[in-house]
Amino acid sequence: MADAKIIDGKALALEVRAQVAQGVAALKESHGVTPGLAVVLVGEDPASSVYVRNKGKQTAAAGMASFEHRLGADTAQADVLSLVEKLNADPKVHGILVQLPLPGQIDADAVIQAIDPAKDVDGFHAINAGRLMIGLPALVPCTPVGCILLARKALGDLTGAHAVVVGRSNIVGKPVAQLLLRENCTVTICHSRTRDLPAVTSQGDILIAAVGRPEMVKGGWIRPGACVIDVGINRIEGEGGKSKLVGDVDFAEAVKVAGSITPVPGGVGPMTIACLLRNTLRAARAIEGLDEE
Ligand code: NDP
Repeated sequence: MADAKIIDGKALALEVRAQVAQGVAALKESHGVTPGLAVVLVGEDPASSVYVRNKGKQTAAAGMASFEHRLGADTAQADVLSLVEKLNADPKVHGILVQLPLPGQIDADAVIQAIDPAKDVDGFHAINAGRLMIGLPALVPCTPVGCILLARKALGDLTGAHAVVVGRSNIVGKPVAQLLLRENCTVTICHSRTRDLPAVTSQGDILIAAVGRPEMVKGGWIRPGACVIDVGINRIEGEGGKSKLVGDVDFAEAVKVAGSITPVPGGVGPMTIACLLRNTLRAARAIEGLDEE
């Protein structure tokens, strides 16, 4: 069998960002509104710092206003909450993102639930999670939206496909499962207590891996011809002691079995920021009382 088709997340992210830039320009032109995204970073986690810098750059490139708030690692929870309150009330800010993980003295859930759900562009607020579940318009977490756009790119209409999701986190597994249901898939969710995981994953026409375990999903776990979306970002030691990024799927094995597959890096990763910008535009339009995109 021929190797799987590689689903190019960088190219699709470029398309999404170009659409967002168009929407931003149109909103400025028609209503004089510039969507604004505020990103809050507490502490100096190096990976988070890189993400925040990239988010700022891409936000500006899409024509939006970018507001960065960098707070010291020892910032008290009350101070983070009061910044969130200020951003909730700021009419120039349409999206608020608090970069996770937060330092230990801060209860991440308390901070997330303090964000105005209308500005919750990460889609982690209970109101948005609930709206997604009951099929109302919602701000939906960015990585799961990226997964759906990638699967659609590879397969077109997803109706009737059996989608198997490995992982049940609130950030990826659960929302991606909800979105797959919305796409009319038959959905199976697996987790650390699933019995005989390979027997379940190998039933999926679509397999989404969001586990956080380097190269766990082997070629034999995959249904021949399946569409494999690898959400994992794991840093491991590669040849010569150099660190490298790998997904949750053993790419070298999977590419021989799957019909299409996302690489790591260059698959789901670039889609996450693109979908964040998309959410910010959607939030701005909704806050301004315009129809949803
Ligand atoms: P979590 O650690 O929150 O969740 C992992 C899930 O995997 C849990 O539901 C857990 O099950 C399940 N799991 C763990 N071990 C096994 C196992 N051996 N067999 C079956 N299931 C298992 O991770 P996230 O959802 O936040 O992230 C998952 C991965 O995606 C990570 O690699 C992360 O870095 C990456 N990620 C990538 C993003 C991107 O932009 N590309 C964005 C967000 C995350 P249980 O619930 O039973 O514990």
